[in-house]
Amino acid sequence: MSEDNVLLKVVKLRKWFEMRKGLFGEVMYLKAVDGVTFDLNEGEAISLVGESGSGKTTLGKTILRLREPTDGKIIFKGKDITHLPNDKLFWYRREASLIQQDPFGALPAHFTISKIIEEPLIIHKMGDKEERRERVYKALEEVRLTPVEDFASKYPHMLSGGQMQRVAIARALVLRPSLVIADEPVSMLDASVRIEILTLLRELQDRLKISFIYITHDLATTRYFSEWIFIMYAGHIVERGITKEILRNPLHPYTKALLSAIPDPDPENRKKFRDVPPGEPPSLINPPPGCRFAPRCPFAMDKCKEEPPEIEVSPKHFVKCWLYA
Ligand code: SF4
Repeated sequence: MSEDNVLLKVVKLRKWFEMRKGLFGEVMYLKAVDGVTFDLNEGEAISLVGESGSGKTTLGKTILRLREPTDGKIIFKGKDITHLPNDKLFWYRREASLIQQDPFGALPAHFTISKIIEEPLIIHKMGDKEERRERVYKALEEVRLTPVEDFASKYPHMLSGGQMQRVAIARALVLRPSLVIADEPVSMLDASVRIEILTLLRELQDRLKISFIYITHDLATTRYFSEWIFIMYAGHIVERGITKEILRNPLHPYTKALLSAIPDPDPENRKKFRDVPPGEPPSLINPPPGCRFAPRCPFAMDKCKEEPPEIEVSPKHFVKCWLYA
């Protein structure tokens, strides 16, 4: 990614949760995000992929400052927002928004659809009543909930899951943010509407030139969505690169394990990935030093007791594994 149009810079970001065994017991840390570094350019999309419990949702929420970072830096549009107090984050709340996994829980049941989409405009004091109505209708058109007059007056319980997620998308985009983090936006929807919603998100992202971080456990959906794939395991980004390159030439044993779970028509690929079993995710509480994938890795060696560095193995293709160091 080139430096000149970087929107978001994340540097050695950590989010640890302090835990205590009993009232006066030993302090332990759940290291959900542990030293993540990357840049995101304006108008580009990243898919952040990993099993549940890998830290990807915590990373998304920490970037949005919905969680307090433990260490590291978050630079947005050149401004360090890592420790900005809440009352100085108002502009960032307009610039960066979240689409949550569960549209059923995310939409207030007692508001009309029109009111739900208008609310961020009211909070951010944007436009008068008529201008806001126009923006709400435009947002409904953009997510293809038409005729807009009909949908505007409905309540969430009158909509299908796919329609509710379209409302959540309209609400996230109505302020025209520069960054949207979509956390498993289709995982709770029927398989029949998942690709529709992903295609809609991708179209809007392209047209409105929004930068996206698409969080998912489903590597198969990323090819429809993003220029970049980042693979997250146990709080670390273990591999990142251009989507086509990662899908064509995965290098980290964990990426291979994820890819082995996707039906692949090419028998050579299936054979290539078969030797890495998916296994169980590790605990993030006081993890031992070294590579966190080692207990599952068929290639683990003595050196893996130390944490591997991130190596750029080919242009823009990074792997955190001693096999490539
Ligand atoms: Fe496997 Fe070692 Fe690479 Fe970790 S660093 S993925 S244990 S080979």
